[in-house]
Amino acid sequence: MFKNKVVLVTGGSRGIGCSIALKFGEQKASVCVNFNSNKDLAKEVVGEVIARGGKAIAIKADVSKENEVKEMVQRIEEEFGAVDILVNNAAITNDSLLLRMQEEQWTRVMDINLKGAYCCAKAVVRGMMKKKYGHIINISSVVAFTGNIGQSNYIASKSGLIGLTKAISLEFASRGIRANAIAPGFIETEMTDSLPENVKNEMKKKIALECFGVPDDIANVVLFLASRDADYITGQTIHVNGGLYLH
Ligand code: NAP
Repeated sequence: MFKNKVVLVTGGSRGIGCSIALKFGEQKASVCVNFNSNKDLAKEVVGEVIARGGKAIAIKADVSKENEVKEMVQRIEEEFGAVDILVNNAAITNDSLLLRMQEEQWTRVMDINLKGAYCCAKAVVRGMMKKKYGHIINISSVVAFTGNIGQSNYIASKSGLIGLTKAISLEFASRGIRANAIAPGFIETEMTDSLPENVKNEMKKKIALECFGVPDDIANVVLFLASRDADYITGQTIHVNGGLYLH
């Protein structure tokens, strides 16, 4: 279904982004594995995408920097052609109670998680408009809906992505471009590894399915949203949280 489709996965070097890149690789897509600091991991993902039958390149770009994103998209266009599917997945956390939060903590999280999605969407939509085809998928979070103590920066950024998704879906629907968001619950990645064991156990008690998800749980939904089966879905948020939060 995705043979030769050009896919940009931001933060594709590990965790959920890696799983998304590999799944598109299995479908013989041409995948750009974006990363910011971890070149070796990104190269491993590229190797694995190619082993699964896809094409792949790793490109370093800090998604919060518009010039770096523009250069990345230019390189993808030279290598594979215009981007068909953008997955805005790159994100960081830098938690702190609001009263203790430093301006730099707030700004860096907002810049990577929210401005990064704006930079990437803006860089790819022209190419998509020319093709009259494209999908933008923004990875938000369940905490954008439940709130959480100590994550005001992260939650503001993830809530912003929901609004950005709606705006893009309306602005570009007539150009054949769809935009959707996914709000994952707790997924086993480096982002959740750092949580203390007792916190993880307490969280699991709140999840109807009583366990954390795995990156493939999110990747499967990304591929569905990007597929022709989802042609009539735009501007939506799909919740993938094991019953932690019922929308
Ligand atoms: P992760 O394991 O921490 O991976 C984050 C990825 O983002 C890495 O590939 C990292 O690359 C990249 N990245 C960080 N800063 C970047 C920047 N400035 N520019 C480009 N790439 C950058 O995260 P994850 O757990 O897989 O999460 C993936 C997405 O799902 C995120 O949007 C996260 O908020 C969301 N999410 C995760 C969970 C969960 O439970 N894991 C729950 C809800 C939502 P480098 O290492 O090379 O910098």
